[in-house]
Amino acid sequence: MKTKIFIIGAGPYGVSIANALHGKKIPFAIAGKTFSLWYEHTLDTMSIRSDWHSSEIYEPNDKYNVRDFVYNNYTQEEAKKIMSYQLPIDVFRKYLRFVESDVNYKVIPQHVVKLSKNGDAFISELENGDKIESEVVIIANGIEAHKYLPESLLKINSPDLIHTWNVHKYTDWKNKNVLVIGAGQSAGEAVVHLYEQNNVTWLTRNPPFFFSEPLNLPTPIFKLALKLSPFFYFFPYWARKKFTRIFVKPAITPNLKEKLMSDKVIRIIDDADNLGLELNGEKFYSKKLNKTFDGVVASTGYKIDINNLKFADAQLLNSIKSEDNFPVLDFDFQTSVKNLFIVGALSEPHYGPAQKFIMGTGHAAVRIARWAEKNFRQ
Ligand SMILES: Cc1cc2nc3c(=O)[nH]c(=O)nc-3n(C[C@H](O)[C@H](O)[C@H](O)COP(=O)(O)OP(=O)(O)OC[C@H]3O[C@@H](n4cnc5c(N)ncnc54)[C@H](O)[C@@H]3O)c2cc1C
Repeated sequence: MKTKIFIIGAGPYGVSIANALHGKKIPFAIAGKTFSLWYEHTLDTMSIRSDWHSSEIYEPNDKYNVRDFVYNNYTQEEAKKIMSYQLPIDVFRKYLRFVESDVNYKVIPQHVVKLSKNGDAFISELENGDKIESEVVIIANGIEAHKYLPESLLKINSPDLIHTWNVHKYTDWKNKNVLVIGAGQSAGEAVVHLYEQNNVTWLTRNPPFFFSEPLNLPTPIFKLALKLSPFFYFFPYWARKKFTRIFVKPAITPNLKEKLMSDKVIRIIDDADNLGLELNGEKFYSKKLNKTFDGVVASTGYKIDINNLKFADAQLLNSIKSEDNFPVLDFDFQTSVKNLFIVGALSEPHYGPAQKFIMGTGHAAVRIARWAEKNFRQ
């Protein structure tokens, strides 16, 4: 198959960019498991953390406005309640299913296993062996490839050592001794999800920090913040780094505090690599704690690094100019390899923290569609 633009990834970024290209009638193809993070890698009991204004899939005519969706699909009373706080995950999933069924193009439900260049063309090979030739590639593959495990856990091979990305697999644990590692929202949610039916030990490097961004700010303030955020690109490098660091500190929403700090949870402050954790039969034994665990939940997050794009062939990867393991991007999200674009978390140092969240999808989609219109107007 041949196309002008090929989008790798069908999360909020890939789909928003596809909507923008579709709006400008620019030929493209898109592959990935649509909204897989939200359907398969988040707990059924959670609420989404971002404000609804900043959790919308971009569409040039604002067709996927969350507020309209909620008021059209729930009673007035339910809608008011839903919109007054963080969106429950089942509401957000219903919204994403609506977007998925409404878009006027097909997503190829396959991952790319190899990306290479042949002259000026990009060749993307899918899981089923099909190949897609394109003039442009947009990498929007999200954070899965960047899952991080501490050194000491890397050498343990057990189905009961689970990274929170694979969260659905421990939902039926009962009467187990569980070790949860990490101080971010995923760790907090894991502890709360498990603590009533299991004995939970919660390990954090520092005392947990409870914080929630102000939610449901007036729409004009949000719209202004979104309009201004692309200018982050023009800040000096030191200022961008300093600002980005504020968003790196792990935090947990205060609504989980009471449960997390209750007597039912054993809290330990230490580094996972100091526990001397090893497999003893099917269980995990920590020399330092002198304790045995049936399961370990590693809520140890993601380390974003361009070298984690393993599907890109080595020659192509090496030719992308990078700084501190992040790709250098121009104002249109283009890498130093002509016609190769990268969006999402890998663009954060250039484009700001918004790019790690759904709120950044609008900028990426608008910039790339404008670039494409200039270069591929038919
Ligand atoms: C547990 C959790 C909760 C979060 N909560 C929030 C929140 O409340 N609000 C918020 O704004 N952000 C939240 N985030 C951040 C989240 O990563 C982003 O908001 C958003 O989902 C990023 O969109 P994306 O399109 O870059 O990636 P993703 O949503 O991860 O989508 C990636 C897409 O790429 C596809 N893909 C992956 N590899 C390949 C490949 N090799 N070939 C083809 N396709 C591929 C996947 O199938 C998927 O379709 C959360 C993240 C996590 C992990």
